[in-house]
Amino acid sequence: MGSLGCNFLCPGCQNWEISHTKVEKEIRSLQFVTPEESIRHARDSHCKGISWTYNEPTMWFEYTLDSASMARETGLLTNYVTNAYITVEALDLIGPYLNAFRADLKGFSDKTYQRIANINRFDGILKILERAKHFWDMHVEIITNLIPEINDGKSELKEMARWICDYLGPETPWHVTRFIPHFRLSHLASTPLAELEQARQIGLEAGLKYVYLGNVPGHPAENTYCPTCGKLLIERMNYQIIQYHLDGNLCTYCGKPIMGYFEPSPNDNQPHNIPRGEP
Ligand code: SF4
Repeated sequence: MGSLGCNFLCPGCQNWEISHTKVEKEIRSLQFVTPEESIRHARDSHCKGISWTYNEPTMWFEYTLDSASMARETGLLTNYVTNAYITVEALDLIGPYLNAFRADLKGFSDKTYQRIANINRFDGILKILERAKHFWDMHVEIITNLIPEINDGKSELKEMARWICDYLGPETPWHVTRFIPHFRLSHLASTPLAELEQARQIGLEAGLKYVYLGNVPGHPAENTYCPTCGKLLIERMNYQIIQYHLDGNLCTYCGKPIMGYFEPSPNDNQPHNIPRGEP
């Protein structure tokens, strides 16, 4: 689910039409769905959970807080797709009700964050990511949209990958996504494939076990591989699953656990409680 507005105004935002809009102007064009209705709709549609995404979920924090607590009561999974620019106090309010925190790490220096998000310091974001992971035990995934000339410096990527590995753990998935020219960065080119692959290599060399490339449909780095035996476990094409070789959370080839929440089969659409935590 999404709404309007963002606390960042990233110049290359792909959802700029909703995140950069004047909320007062557009609010009448939205359909209001109560938290109760959203949960009913998710259950009627056999969804496994609800994700608050598209624009920054902290913009409608009270709504997402109410919805997340109700969703968890009914056994739905909950996910925040966020820039993680949230106070510790706010995180602690919603922390008990979130299963997953899919957060941006847009760079690894104040300078990059000043250029992208117009904030002076980014260290608070790192603290939030650590707290989501270690204090609230959420499943944390990191996304970095690689923008040419802005956050694609090799040394910054190395620092970022090392930090993810050291502070969130080597099993943390890192998604490096291709920038597609948008909005105020329309003059830039898309991220070259070679740069994306280099960033992936940086992540793997830092010790991360799951480094994915995004916005490159059909690329082998969209897939999940077993970090122990190296076999292909989940083959993806965009949002479609082509092959699936997991038995619960275990690799079907070597039996080793794989990080994440997994259904017995990709077609198991019955909503139910899935235990949280490490495999
Ligand atoms: S944080 Fe995300 S939604 Fe907000 S402006 Fe930046 S890219 Fe867009």
